[in-house]
Amino acid sequence: MNVKNYKVAIVGAGPAGYFTAQAFQKAQRNDLSFVIDMIERLPTPWGLVRSGVAPDHPKIKTVSKVFEKIAKEPNFRLFANVELGKDVSLKDLRDQYDVVVLATGASRGRKLGIPGEKLKNSLSAAEFVPWYNAHPDFVDVEVDLSSDTALVIGAGNVAMDVARILAIDPAELDPTDVAEHALAKLKQSNIRTVIICGRRGPEHAAFTAPELRELPKLENTDVYIDSKQIEEAIQHIEEMDEVEKDLRNNIEAMKAIAEHEKKGVTRKLEIKFLSTPIEIKGNGKVEEVVFQKNKVENGKVVSANDTFSIKTGLVVTAIGYESVEYSGVTFESGRVRNIAGYVEHNVYTVGWAKRGPTGVIGTNKSDSTDAVDLIIENLKEPKTSEGITALLKSGHKVIDQTSWEKINASEVISGELAGKPRVKVADWSQLIRLGLS
Ligand code: NAP
Repeated sequence: MNVKNYKVAIVGAGPAGYFTAQAFQKAQRNDLSFVIDMIERLPTPWGLVRSGVAPDHPKIKTVSKVFEKIAKEPNFRLFANVELGKDVSLKDLRDQYDVVVLATGASRGRKLGIPGEKLKNSLSAAEFVPWYNAHPDFVDVEVDLSSDTALVIGAGNVAMDVARILAIDPAELDPTDVAEHALAKLKQSNIRTVIICGRRGPEHAAFTAPELRELPKLENTDVYIDSKQIEEAIQHIEEMDEVEKDLRNNIEAMKAIAEHEKKGVTRKLEIKFLSTPIEIKGNGKVEEVVFQKNKVENGKVVSANDTFSIKTGLVVTAIGYESVEYSGVTFESGRVRNIAGYVEHNVYTVGWAKRGPTGVIGTNKSDSTDAVDLIIENLKEPKTSEGITALLKSGHKVIDQTSWEKINASEVISGELAGKPRVKVADWSQLIRLGLS
């Protein structure tokens, strides 16, 4: 049988990229095959599984085993330490490959757009999270943990991760793969109260129930939610025509937190609702955040015409992400402009670059399968071209799968000695040295 063999470039080695590679692998037939080149800017793959997922959530990271299985297939090659827009252009990839899939994510934090946001120690989760996860671009983020209170803005799972990392006893992070520089800093931290501030009510929060249910189980931290706010939210959802199961589960989990007996420990994590930050104040550095109080009226959140403020030395905003732009692609509303994953020519997009920063890691699985179905429908005759090797300058230090496996093994071995899953290398040039040794 005549086999048509197509060259695919997937840009971005995060969950969306890997699940797209897997969907291509599964779609192969007697008459259809794919050669997949995964291109990644960093010297390490796995995207948010390495630099986003909280270190105290090791179970979520086990999906990396699936990624390594995908990478072991003979039609898969990794080209890490290769940057789209710098080392290769999109035009060149389009010419050399039958299909280009942009799985480049959304790594820039959205801004509040309020006065004082640029003060020292007002950080975005898009800096703070990769800092504690040893992302080589964020090793030098200046994080000052000398005050007793930290505020986290946003009522989503990223806010929850950030708040937990700040609020738990850092000794609980000893057996994790948290960045060594971050653990050292967290061990010196004076922060004992962390307040998550959501602008709407408990019934509108973007947290998910499994993450909420963990909170009362924290060993060294008491978690608080105002019971009155939960009772009001319960009243509001009783007035709704239809209540989704996820919402009921969330409210139940928050009620359990509010009612849970406190341990009387000094570390506190509070979730505060109906509070919109309107100004961050401070003399050169964050000192106080002013909030507008809100209320729910006929299902809508409106201003209660009142303000209050909280003294704090650290603010972390976790209010969503947008894509970082690169040349050759049109970005719109913080994402790659696309129609159901189709961009233009032979270019497609998946994951957060396609749909924005929503969904959990598994969401990318169905999303990628849909994209690959669409791509296969649109395939033309395969090109005869060389692929990426024709594009990279000679001597370019590519981290391929074998090099990555060296980095991985080295980190895991260091971890074994320290009683951790791995000790991450956070220095870009050291990563490359390890990979190419
Ligand atoms: P998210 O779930 O969209 O939550 C963003 C939060 O920011 C919302 O509460 C939103 O409130 C708030 N917000 C937005 N703009 C704001 C503003 N100007 N002022 C105040 N608050 C504002 O986003 P995320 O937390 O970044 O998470 C991204 C995705 O990753 C989510 O799908 C999440 O579930 C997933 N994730 C999952 C896990 C896990 O499974 N453990 C961990 C981390 C992340 P409004 O609703 O009022 O807009």
